[in-house]
Amino acid sequence: MNLLFFKTEYKSNNYKKSDILIYFTEFCRQNKDIHFHSKILFQMLKDKNEERTSISDLGEFGLINHLTKYFKINCESTEKGVGDDAAVLDFTDKKVLVTTDLLVEGVHFDLAYVPLKHLGYKAVMVNLSDVYAMNGKASQITVSIAMSNRFSLEAIEELYAGIQLACDSYKVDLVGGDTTSSTTGLLISVTAIGEADAADIVYRNGAKPNDLLVVSGDLGAAYLGLQVLEREKQVFQVNPNSQPDLEKYSYLVERQLKPEARKDIVELLKELDVKPTSMIDISDGLSSEILHICKQSEVGCHLYENKIPLDPQMISTCEEFEMESTTIALSGGEDYELLFTISQEDFLKIKGNPNLTIIGHMVEKESGAHLITRGNQQIELTAQGWNSFDK
Ligand code: ADP
Ligand code: MG
Repeated sequence: MNLLFFKTEYKSNNYKKSDILIYFTEFCRQNKDIHFHSKILFQMLKDKNEERTSISDLGEFGLINHLTKYFKINCESTEKGVGDDAAVLDFTDKKVLVTTDLLVEGVHFDLAYVPLKHLGYKAVMVNLSDVYAMNGKASQITVSIAMSNRFSLEAIEELYAGIQLACDSYKVDLVGGDTTSSTTGLLISVTAIGEADAADIVYRNGAKPNDLLVVSGDLGAAYLGLQVLEREKQVFQVNPNSQPDLEKYSYLVERQLKPEARKDIVELLKELDVKPTSMIDISDGLSSEILHICKQSEVGCHLYENKIPLDPQMISTCEEFEMESTTIALSGGEDYELLFTISQEDFLKIKGNPNLTIIGHMVEKESGAHLITRGNQQIELTAQGWNSFDK
């Protein structure tokens, strides 16, 4: 069921207990740590006004002004933000990093179970993650949206509330964008701009044989969160009165709906005085990201299955869904963790850090990229996970 449809429904007082978003609310009530969910969903359910304001009532300029007026400027490098023909930025002697992502309804997100506030937040995160993967500091974003007339002002306000939360939390400035209409739903494109000293930038191509392969956080949970949400959607379509129990999947759902870009890891590495030799963020799954580093650095690697960091909830849910946790970690995607290589000399600096796990090391290109399984088999890594895996 579409979120907007739901909003219109409950606004006309046909508040449907059976709606999937109500389930979420229950879920949030039970999970005290999912503040983000509960806050927005309660907000949504209470809703400030009962109207559904049409965007055309405001006009394009009115809309942009309405959406952006509460954004504060955080960065010194922002000289002029929203409001003129172009933003003006000043990076003095820094290198400038620029990255863009486009998200399309029905392809990258499903509004049946992605609240718009989460969508706004996530759209910013996926871009900031790319700036951090260059070992840079994100400082500005632009946001372009195209939407069909089924989106009300209230809906777009939700989207921008998520964008604003991301900007406030990560200290980046919204400095521009574009707004237009679409015949087929919602498109959102975010561009992130960042800065770094030339000497600090880390590319994908710097890994050397014998470098250690390191990953932040844990892997595979976001993909499983999506599976859980998809399953609830199916159940709901068949039986709108069913009561899903999302509590035991709270971490997975949170990883899917509210990912965090690892700004903290970039800061940690600086503190530890470690400059990775190569780095990438994990958007498509560990396996495919490792292969990007291998290809661009012209090296091979040994990845150890028993070292891949997995959350206990991820492991138990894999058992329940009869999925292989290693496969999910390798090909799941959307984890937005950082994957990087460091020189062996830096081993002691990162050793024992709870945020970082050494999962393997790089080898000569000729040896290829392999997973070393728990049973000590060597299996070639492929972008989808691995080749000819049979245990
Ligand atoms: P132009 O016609 O020159 O493209 P616009 O009217 O589209 O100008 O934009 C006016 C200002 O509002 C610009 O600073 C632009 O970057 C900003 N802006 C437009 N759309 C958005 C949006 N969706 N989010 C944030 N800023 C926006
Ligand atoms: Mg414009």
